[in-house]
Amino acid sequence: MSSNFNEKINPFEVALKQLEEAAKIISLDKGMLDILAHPKRVLTVSLPVKMDDGSIKVFTGFRSQHNDARGPHKGGIRYHPDVTIEEVKALSMWMTWKCAIADIPYGGGKGGIICNPKSMSDNELERLTRRFAYMIADIIGPRTDIPAPDVYTGGKEMAWIMDTYSALKGNYGQPEVITGKPISVGGSLGRNEATGRGLAFTVREAAKKLNINMKEATIVVQGFGNAGQFASKLVEEQGAKLIAVSDSQGSVLNDNGINVDSVIKHKKETGSIVDFEGCRSISNEELLETECTILIPAALENQITERNAGKIRAKIVAEAANGPTTPEADEILYNNKILTIPDVLANGGGVTVSYFEWLQNLRRDYWTEEEVNNRLEKNITKSFHDVYETHDKYNVDMRKAATVLAINRVAEATKIRGIWP
Ligand code: GLU
Repeated sequence: MSSNFNEKINPFEVALKQLEEAAKIISLDKGMLDILAHPKRVLTVSLPVKMDDGSIKVFTGFRSQHNDARGPHKGGIRYHPDVTIEEVKALSMWMTWKCAIADIPYGGGKGGIICNPKSMSDNELERLTRRFAYMIADIIGPRTDIPAPDVYTGGKEMAWIMDTYSALKGNYGQPEVITGKPISVGGSLGRNEATGRGLAFTVREAAKKLNINMKEATIVVQGFGNAGQFASKLVEEQGAKLIAVSDSQGSVLNDNGINVDSVIKHKKETGSIVDFEGCRSISNEELLETECTILIPAALENQITERNAGKIRAKIVAEAANGPTTPEADEILYNNKILTIPDVLANGGGVTVSYFEWLQNLRRDYWTEEEVNNRLEKNITKSFHDVYETHDKYNVDMRKAATVLAINRVAEATKIRGIWP
């Protein structure tokens, strides 16, 4: 996404505020709150890379390991010019909550490299990725920290990391060190679509709760990468109509509906959704404020803030992106009776199928796509209802409910394991 007026908001402060608010609801012990407020380890690395023109450029990368009380750290690696250490720390905390809500045996982690992958060649990206894998090799591993794709990374980068790690650590193939791999090197069927598919299941459940007829529903999607595309496609399959969509180049709207397959094809051919036939061009602000049934932020953090939350005219906000809504905006949306399906629930399908990929890798086993999708549906539908019941029980918004559920699970594991040494 193009940068905007909200870029000064520090995501880690947002994450801490969410944690503190949830802790208050359950009167969490102060010491436990302090443990959860601090990532266990954050590594910063410098990455010299030979560029294609012969020059050397030094990039900076991070890996934050937030908590591993329930299992190994888990979480993606993003490549973006706006990556900061604070952002990576926040994202690693959100991964801890996400894995606890999905009830999979992982803790949270996240990585990032400050770079603009769109301006780099494949050879440069490979050298950067392998260097990063080399620099974090001692803190990741199949039983300690298992990375995955995130913003502007995918199967190609995962294969390079798997190969580099495997060569360094015993020189035998270890697909279980990373997920989101291409199928040919141990990836799972269904992983690529998993974030969007999981989100579509949570939207389906939310619509039932609100008595929304999906055949009359409209969708607006901000961000049209992997998650945005599959989420649009699968919510469209439930009968809803996409009316506006954006990517880093611009936003377009057509009240009569935008066919998802056609706009995906247009983006593949031209590199953007801009100029899609039958649409008029609108601003990013207008896109978010378009009246619709389901708004899906699928780009970056801090898109819905106190400045624009009052102008959101959706019934459901389903967060495919991580951290798109600030705590102040949550309050406004809740008061306006808009149901938010928070990131840590709505986009948990990605890491859930990463878990399935890891299980298959550990056993050198292969599941059918149907089995993967069925298990995902069962798992995320249960998570949705766990969070929804918590939201009813405490009479709080869905994010607070999700965070309460997560910190209860993580705090219990932390307490039972104890502190040692
Ligand atoms: N990057 C994704 C997320 O934010 C996936 C993480 C994973 O599969 O480990 O949830």
